[in-house]
Amino acid sequence: MLRLVYPYTMSISGNLRAIHHRIEAASTAVKRDPATVTLIAVSKMHTVDEIREAYDCGQRHFGESRLQEAQPKIQQLPKDIVWHYIGTLQTNKAKKIASLFQVIHTFCKASQIEEASKSDTPVDALIEVNIANEPQKAGISTIELDEFHQKALNSGQVHFRGLMTIGPVVPNAEAMRPYFRELRELREKLRLEWLSMGMSGDFEVAIQEGASHIRVGTAIFGSRL
Ligand SMILES: *Cc1c(COP(=O)(O)O)cnc(C)c1O
Repeated sequence: MLRLVYPYTMSISGNLRAIHHRIEAASTAVKRDPATVTLIAVSKMHTVDEIREAYDCGQRHFGESRLQEAQPKIQQLPKDIVWHYIGTLQTNKAKKIASLFQVIHTFCKASQIEEASKSDTPVDALIEVNIANEPQKAGISTIELDEFHQKALNSGQVHFRGLMTIGPVVPNAEAMRPYFRELRELREKLRLEWLSMGMSGDFEVAIQEGASHIRVGTAIFGSRL
């Protein structure tokens, strides 16, 4: 029987099916209900047609990184899509982003919250954590997280649900485990619900460590080159 080891060149529908199987396997391995994992299809640099293809397979959560690129896509695509903003959050665009997207994963500055809170629609929010405290990386350091979270609590239309991390570059998925685990421990301390962690290369480890949202691009849509 053919075993799909590297399914990135298949169709979007085939890729989605394969990922759902992998989500199920990773979840049941740690006695989690796979329904507690939200798959975000990261569609940055992919076309409206490709997104529609995934939508027709039942995919409803999509992730985008740039406002300029996302805005026309959001306007053209069905209204029951849940749009997740996962890119760098420029303060001067935060209000607009909060009004277009249902979830923003990348809050790490007070000024971003202040702007986004002026949106006329509610937005779910996550704090981006620089989990390995890398000097040049976006996100709140683990040391400053407590203080930032306290400031972030009451902020108009912005409703903080959890923590997100991208994580350091590591040689293999297993090497991400301690970082994912630490993010989960930080979330538990802050009594938040959501954990946005895990991408194409490491989402199974993220699920085992408690991810509520995984952000998968390449493994669904293929390479962005
Ligand atoms: C692009 C991107 C992803 C998806 O990465 P893949 O490796 O293609 O799955 C996930 N999260 C963030 C923040 C991204 O920018």
